[in-house]
Amino acid sequence: MIESPLLEKLTGYIGGRWTDNEHGNTFDVYNPATGKVIAQVASMSEDEVNAAIASGKSALRLTSPYSIETRRKWLEDIRDALKANKEEVGRILCMEHGKPLQEAQGEVDYAAGFFDYCSKHIQALDAHTIPEKPKDCTWTVHYRPIGVAGLITPWNFPIGMIAKKLSAALAAGCPSVIKPASETPLTMIALFSLMDKHTDMPDGMVNLVMGKASVIGKALCESPDVPMLSFTGSTEVGRKLIVDTAEQVKKLALELGGNAPFIVFDDADLDAAADNLIANKFRGGGQTCVCANRIFVHEKVADAFGEKLAERVNKMTVGDGINGDVDIGPLINQAGYDKVKRHVQDALEKGATLVAGKKPEELGNDLFFPPTVVHGVNRDMCCYQEETFGPLVPMALFRTEEEVIEAGNDTEFGLASYVFTNDAERAQRVAAGLRFGHCGWNTGTGPTPEAPFGGMKASGIGREGGLEGLFEFVEAQTVPRGF
Ligand code: NAP
Repeated sequence: MIESPLLEKLTGYIGGRWTDNEHGNTFDVYNPATGKVIAQVASMSEDEVNAAIASGKSALRLTSPYSIETRRKWLEDIRDALKANKEEVGRILCMEHGKPLQEAQGEVDYAAGFFDYCSKHIQALDAHTIPEKPKDCTWTVHYRPIGVAGLITPWNFPIGMIAKKLSAALAAGCPSVIKPASETPLTMIALFSLMDKHTDMPDGMVNLVMGKASVIGKALCESPDVPMLSFTGSTEVGRKLIVDTAEQVKKLALELGGNAPFIVFDDADLDAAADNLIANKFRGGGQTCVCANRIFVHEKVADAFGEKLAERVNKMTVGDGINGDVDIGPLINQAGYDKVKRHVQDALEKGATLVAGKKPEELGNDLFFPPTVVHGVNRDMCCYQEETFGPLVPMALFRTEEEVIEAGNDTEFGLASYVFTNDAERAQRVAAGLRFGHCGWNTGTGPTPEAPFGGMKASGIGREGGLEGLFEFVEAQTVPRGF
């Protein structure tokens, strides 16, 4: 079992205190590297979720709102607590998610960056008077907190994803009811321990509920006291939330699945493209929404690029991330592992060739999937159509710019995309043509706290990060003054 000063309680947090878990229901949390149970965490009832919503409602202040200075202080305190406890939070994250220790600790820094950004830009949420005087009135624009927000996060970035939402919600003055993924609740509990000890937020400002997604999701969707849900996860669940909140016309912020194209033109610096692809693709074991999922390589350089990739991939190490010296940890669970295996098998059966990695029949019985490269992929294959969410690099050929823009867009998703070329005009044309919220030019880098990030098409609604993300939890209210 995991031991940590940040995990003294393994229950929910409602109204400024840890819950008692009177009914005694729990669920198991596993370390995917060892397959062992490392904690048993309270699984909460519908009544407890409703209590969390009520507690959030009691912390919401509309007529005498929390000042900008107060909210800034909350954000700074959380940022400082995360930075001071980066090693321990990262260790917990590593043990429940499996990503290498350094990468897990890097995610804590990344999370602190969102609280930092919001603390430095919160002034943008102050009321302002517009310079014109339309209709003979003086118009003031206020940014009102939308109300109690439900924040639902996935397992692939256990601290990064909540940081994006919670920083903006607190900046707006919105209380929240937070549900982490059932695979990774411990990092969230650690965050609540830090907020409990190091901030003086009013009781009910942040509430933690864990357990059955169906129970928690239903309560959040049905409660008239929760006007907004911010969700990161699969498009499938995102669609369900759209349907389940339609009746009440709730505001939704949705960060959903991806199917990122990574395009390498024949004039690109192939070594830089290969290095960037490795960093982009294998972070989190390939379990990120922004990682390259379809690699389109110009036919003139496809063999050379494949060799560069194989050379790099063959040097990568896979193992228990807690040891600190591995490049890739285990996949999150058996279902995730089986999906990657199915994608490799399907691609090989339909004519792709294995450039690096193992054949499906050579794989072991744990969750450690070797980094794998396949060549000769086409749109009939599962790895082209679906988000693999694992360490598979599927390469496809292309000939012309028009053809590759069309192929890149040949998906319902529109989250991240990448183009490698030394021709600036071509890069601008390709970025404009790709219907993706993020398009890296000669870089495989993903989101950052300073810039808005989010999806087009079925990859979501809204943005996180940047000023756009800061405005997600407020509603503009205009007050024209006549005399
Ligand atoms: P998921 O299965 O959709 O789960 C995400 C969260 O939703 C979890 O907390 C889950 O709880 C909860 N949930 C499941 N069913 C629900 C329901 N009916 N009502 C309310 N909540 C519900 O996704 P995942 O497998 O954790 O994450 C992987 C997906 O997230 C990928 O598609 C990835 O691309 C996407 N993602 C997108 C972004 C982005 O920025 N766009 C970032 C990261 C990940 P349980 O764990 O208890 O089931």
